[in-house]
Amino acid sequence: MTAILSNLQAIRRAIAQAAQAAQRDPASIMLLAVSKTFPPAAVREAHAAGQHAFGENYVQEALDKISALRDLDLEWHFIGPIQSNKTRVIAENFAWVHGVDRLKIAQRLSEQRPHELPPLNICLQVNVSGEESKSGIAPSDAAELAREVSILPRLKLRGLMAIPAPEDDVPAQRRPFAQLRELAQTITAQGITLDTLSMGMSHDFAAAIQEGATIIRVGTAIFGKRDYIK
Ligand SMILES: *Cc1c(COP(=O)(O)O)cnc(C)c1O
Repeated sequence: MTAILSNLQAIRRAIAQAAQAAQRDPASIMLLAVSKTFPPAAVREAHAAGQHAFGENYVQEALDKISALRDLDLEWHFIGPIQSNKTRVIAENFAWVHGVDRLKIAQRLSEQRPHELPPLNICLQVNVSGEESKSGIAPSDAAELAREVSILPRLKLRGLMAIPAPEDDVPAQRRPFAQLRELAQTITAQGITLDTLSMGMSHDFAAAIQEGATIIRVGTAIFGKRDYIK
């Protein structure tokens, strides 16, 4: 058995376990395989093991991979930081974008989404407490951005995304995830329906599932350690 296959099987078991502990249906949790820095062959292997959705952070690397894998039926998610001069290729090549934190980027994605494709699924990135990165909108501004994005014609606003700072103990992991869930509930109560919480990575996806994650983004636990020096 290959490492990717056995890793995927172990993660599926862990998802089922975490879902059961949270009294949730495991089918309500999508596993997004984060394939950044790994070659098309690794994606092929994961696909052969039943994996359908893949996440990428770097536009050029993603485009090369998408084109090398055209023969497979895959769903591509862009999860990296978005530069405004890259919105067109993102709008043309991905099914989901997780890191939207500015109206201007959302407007460009909507204008540039090709009409023969379904609306682009969007998650707004929120900078929840304890987050180290500079990206992500402040929680207090998220409802307004959600309202503005929800009316853009070629986008489908799905939910919120966060990348909390890594924590070792589970209660500390759960705190920012709970904050994101509560924020999504607040926004939904204002009449903007959100059905997605994109949260949890290799080291904390079980805590994210406890707090309601519907998409977990897992790289290392599937493909192994990344080597950034290429
Ligand atoms: C790289 C990355 C992941 C995957 O992280 P792992 O710790 O390898 O599972 C998830 N989400 C985002 C936004 C990433 O950049």
